[in-house]
Amino acid sequence: MQSYSIRFFRTCNSKDGKKQKKEAKILISKQVPPNKQVIFDKNCKKIWLLHFLCVFLRSNYKNLKTMLEKKLESALNKQVNAELWSAYLYLSMSYDMDDKGYEGIASWFALQAKEEFEHASRFMKFIGETGGKVMLMPIETVKQEWKTPQHAFEDTLKHEKVVTRKIYALMDMAIELKNYPTQSMLKWFVDEQVEEEDTASKILEKLKKIESSPAGLYALDKQLGKREE
Ligand code: MG
Repeated sequence: MQSYSIRFFRTCNSKDGKKQKKEAKILISKQVPPNKQVIFDKNCKKIWLLHFLCVFLRSNYKNLKTMLEKKLESALNKQVNAELWSAYLYLSMSYDMDDKGYEGIASWFALQAKEEFEHASRFMKFIGETGGKVMLMPIETVKQEWKTPQHAFEDTLKHEKVVTRKIYALMDMAIELKNYPTQSMLKWFVDEQVEEEDTASKILEKLKKIESSPAGLYALDKQLGKREE
C-alpha cells in the first residue's frame, strides 16, 4: 500500500523550562479516506499533531484525491502528445491535398485533425479530473507531402493502427494497476479506434478501385467533402 510518511519537528518547553525539540510522524495512506487516516505520534500532543495534519491535508488535498499512479499519468500525457501529433499529421495532409486540388479530401482531413484535437482534450480533461498534472510536450514534425490521396490514406490507416496499439498498451497498464476510472475512460477510445481504422480502410479500398481514374477521384473528392464532423 502506498503511503506518505511526514516528520514534523517542533520546539516545546519541557517541565524544567528548557527548550526541547520534539518530533511527530504522520503516515497517510493514499488508499484510505482522510477521515479514516491512522496517526502515529511520537512524543507530541495529539492536538498539534492534528493541527499539522489539517495543514498537510489542505496543502496536499490534490495529492490525496489523485486516482492516477505516476506511471499511468506519464503514459496518459504521452498519449496527449500522440493525439496532438495526429492532429498535426492530418492538418499537414489537409493542406497538401488542398495544394493538389482535392478540396473535398482536404476538408475531410481538416475535420479529422479537429477530431484528434478533441481526443487530446478528452485525455487532458481526464488527467485533470483524476488529480493528475497535464504535461504538454513538444510536438515532433510531421511529413509535409504525399504523392496522391491514396498515399495519404495509406499513411492514415498505418497511423491509426499505431494509435490503436498505443490505446491497447494504456488499457493493459490500467488493468495491471487496477485503475478502474482509466479503464472506463479508455473503453471509449477502444471503440473509437475500431471506427477510425474501418473508415480509413474503406476510403483506401475505394481509392484502390478507382486507381488513377480522374472521374472516380473527382467523385470521391466530392463525397468526402460532404463530411460534417
Ligand atoms: Mg485519435
